[in-house]
Amino acid sequence: MRAAPGQRRRGGAGPHAGRHLFRPLLDHHGEGLTMAEVQTKPMPVPDNISRPYWEGANQGEFRFQRCSACGKAQFYSRYACVHCHSTKHEWQVAVGLGRVASFSVIHRAPLSSFAADTPYVLALVDLDEGFRFMCNVLNCDPATVKIGMRVRVCYETRSGTEQKVPQVEPAKS
Ligand SMILES: [Zn+2]
Repeated sequence: MRAAPGQRRRGGAGPHAGRHLFRPLLDHHGEGLTMAEVQTKPMPVPDNISRPYWEGANQGEFRFQRCSACGKAQFYSRYACVHCHSTKHEWQVAVGLGRVASFSVIHRAPLSSFAADTPYVLALVDLDEGFRFMCNVLNCDPATVKIGMRVRVCYETRSGTEQKVPQVEPAKS
């Protein structure tokens, strides 16, 4: 029996509605998640707004948007400026240096595909160009990561894909 549209809406806001918050992380292909897919790390699906960023990553460039109206940087890429709502922006290439603003050491992986990486560092990094970037801090002992530490962008290659994923590692001073 089919539910009337009104009933279906109420059902959708029921006690399990909150689980949909996690769907983009767990299931980027849409419906029909299988155990085989859980074994693979989530990968980006570039769209018209994010494609310059992901193409840049494959060329070793960390690209970001700078608003043509107010001059402020924004990250991640969006259709309109988060500061002034202008839709005019240009893509620039970051030098790739920044500082750790905050971080957590992850001991219990959210997906089985990350289990082999534990413990690993999830960080918020302030790039010198003036925007914040969430990423992993690679190529170091997690116990050595500190707030304020200088880091630089590096590019992770994940198995089964040609797409490189921007991350950071300690900057050698
Ligand atoms: Zn703006």
